Amino acid sequence: MFEYDYLIVGSGLFGATFAYRAKQAGKRCLVIDKRAHLGGNVYCETVEGIHVHTYGAHIFHTSNKEVWDFANRLVPFNRYTNCPVANYKGALYNLPFNMNTFYQMWGVRTPEEAQEEINRQRAAISSALNGSQPQNLEEQALLLVGKDIYEKLIRGYTEKQWGRPCTELPAFIIRRLPLRFVYDNNYFNDPYQGIPIGGYNLLIEKLLDNIETRTNCDFFAHREELERVAEKIVYTGPVDQFFDYRFGSLQYRTVRFETELMDTPNHQGNAVINYTDRETPYTRIIEHKHFESFGQAVYENPKTVISREFSMEWQPGMEPYYPVNDDRNAALYQQYKSLAEKEKKVLFGGRLAEYKYYDMAPTIEQALRLANEQLGK
Ligand code: FAD
Ligand code: UDP
Repeated sequence: MFEYDYLIVGSGLFGATFAYRAKQAGKRCLVIDKRAHLGGNVYCETVEGIHVHTYGAHIFHTSNKEVWDFANRLVPFNRYTNCPVANYKGALYNLPFNMNTFYQMWGVRTPEEAQEEINRQRAAISSALNGSQPQNLEEQALLLVGKDIYEKLIRGYTEKQWGRPCTELPAFIIRRLPLRFVYDNNYFNDPYQGIPIGGYNLLIEKLLDNIETRTNCDFFAHREELERVAEKIVYTGPVDQFFDYRFGSLQYRTVRFETELMDTPNHQGNAVINYTDRETPYTRIIEHKHFESFGQAVYENPKTVISREFSMEWQPGMEPYYPVNDDRNAALYQQYKSLAEKEKKVLFGGRLAEYKYYDMAPTIEQALRLANEQLGK
């Protein structure tokens, strides 16, 4: 007889959502995390009353009404809409690429004028490709938006973020960015978007309400004992570590944050400002209070907290953030995946165990799917 039905390794959104549903189904769960806190990468520290996104800015957005309703039943979300601004050598442009950007870039005022200018700007790449598919991010970006936007708003930012030339990056990365011929600065196309009122920690607290948790508990430090406490394990840590790196280490990009408390109520007037030139060493500055304070409310707190983000190559011991999209890592992951599929007692899920960049909403969706498979609807 086991003490628990499920041992859940990792208290991020995947583990916490699975635990929530398992608890609802009457299962006994133990959730462990090697960090000193729960919540995985959505965890926020509170500094001078401001929720600081410790592991990078998190904006919840989804087209999936079921996931949106699920999250909102736990904690209602505010009306935050992500409208980042790009700073290129001191000139400011709205993102994503829309009529405001085209006006700022070229002075064009109508969708027709904007489309004409983009067509002019992409004529060269269009004739070079001559109907064939773009082979890399540079070709794709030139084909989508033309030379000026590529050079001022894409190239520098992308090369800093991924640490390689745009000619060596896959085309699909840039297809994620909307291109719009309307004056609309909303970065996402999804109909649902916001930040939990009271912060992400509250969402995690609600998910893990009345569930036994242990922080500062590394699965690998107590593996034998932990494997015996539960009938099944939901593992959300790195898949290569689970198998003792037997085929080698999967690679990631990581981010270093330089966070600063400032004696001003409003430093940059927006939550996100991207620095799209190559020379500025950071990719963007986040001003955390703007995720949760709007209008005059921004001035109620005389202080603010900002984080500069420096994108860098991951080394063992650093936080693994973004899986590297290349053939070596894809092949390596397939080897680990086939081992994972043979495990009877262990279920693998979440961004580290699946070596896949998941946004928060798809993470919840996947965890609910696994829970439904395991527990029945
Ligand atoms: P995680 O949150 O990483 O949780 C895994 C947990 O497992 C961690 O707490 C870890 O400590 C624990 N763990 C690992 N190994 C062990 C072990 N051996 N023993 C015990 N515990 C262990 N998504 C959005 O929707 N919008 C955004 O704006 C957004 N911004 C992002 C910005 C950055 C910089 C990053 C990296 C991600 C962003 N995401 C965003 C994605 C979001 O963070 C993920 O969707 C979500 O965190 C995935 O949850 P998870 O549970 O799979 O992983
Ligand atoms: N991007 C860019 N300039 C910007 C913002 C984004 O060139 O100001 C590119 C960059 O290559 C990035 C991609 O668009 O990787 C996708 O942007 P997104 O905001 O989805 O980035 P991520 O979620 O990867 O941080």
